Amino acid sequence: MKTKSGELALLAAACLLAAGCSSVPYTGRRHMLLISTGQEKKLGEDEYQKFLKDAKLSNDREKVEMIRRIGRRMAKASGRPDFQWEFNLVEDDKTVNAWCLPGGKVAVYTGILPVAETETGLAVVMGHEIAHALARHGGERMSQGMVAQFGASALSVALGGQSGAVRKLAQDAYGMGVGVGILLPFSRSHEAEADHIGLVLMAKAGYDPRESVEFWKRMAGNKEGAKDSPLARYLSTHPSDVTRQENLRGWMEEALKEYQR
Ligand SMILES: [Zn+2]
Repeated sequence: MKTKSGELALLAAACLLAAGCSSVPYTGRRHMLLISTGQEKKLGEDEYQKFLKDAKLSNDREKVEMIRRIGRRMAKASGRPDFQWEFNLVEDDKTVNAWCLPGGKVAVYTGILPVAETETGLAVVMGHEIAHALARHGGERMSQGMVAQFGASALSVALGGQSGAVRKLAQDAYGMGVGVGILLPFSRSHEAEADHIGLVLMAKAGYDPRESVEFWKRMAGNKEGAKDSPLARYLSTHPSDVTRQENLRGWMEEALKEYQR
C-alpha cells in the first residue's frame, strides 16, 4: 500500500506516542500499528464466533483431529500462550482455503485437503496462515486504512477506541465477509513474510519445511486452465509463483536448523 509523506509523518508520530511501533517476529521488520493487540484479538474472536454460527463443521473425526494436532504443535511453536487458539475444519469441498484471525482463530476448508495431500502439506498452509496473524498483517492494514480514512484524526480514533469506526476498518481490512471463505488479498510483501515465518514455524513444530516448496508447486500447477476455480481464487489472494519457491529455498537453511533441533 502506498503511503504519502504526511501519512508517514503521522505514523512516525504514532510511533513516538507508543501507539504501536513494534517489530515482526522472526523477520524483525518494523511496522506501525494503530490498533492494540487486545482490540485485534477481540475483533478476531467476535468474527470467528459469527462465522462458526453459519459454518458447517466437519464431522470427520480423523481429519478434525489432524487439524487440531497440527494446530497444537504450531501454537506451541508460536510462543503465543496469550492467544486463545482454536482450530476448526469447515465442510466445504469447493473452497480451497484456510485462514487465521487475530488471537489464533483458525479455519481450514476441506477443499484444501486434496492439495495438501499429507499432514505436512497441511502444516505448510496452516503455518502460512498463522504467520499472517503472528505478524499482525491485518492490524497493519487496518492501521493503513485508518490513516487513509481519518488522516490526522487517525490517532484519536485509535487511542479513543471509537469501536464503531474500528470495527468498520476491521471489516474493510480483513474483507470480513469471512463467511464466504475468502479474505482480502494480502500484499506481496506480506505474503513473502508469511511464507518466511510460516516456514520457520512449521519446522519448529516438527514438520519438514522442505515440503513447502512441493506444496506451493502443486498449488501453482493446479491453477492452470482454471481461471475461476476455487484454487485460482485462493491463489488470487495468496499468489504462488516461481519467486515464492525461490524465496522458500532461500529461507530453508534457517528453517532446517529449527527442524533438526
Ligand atoms: Zn497469505
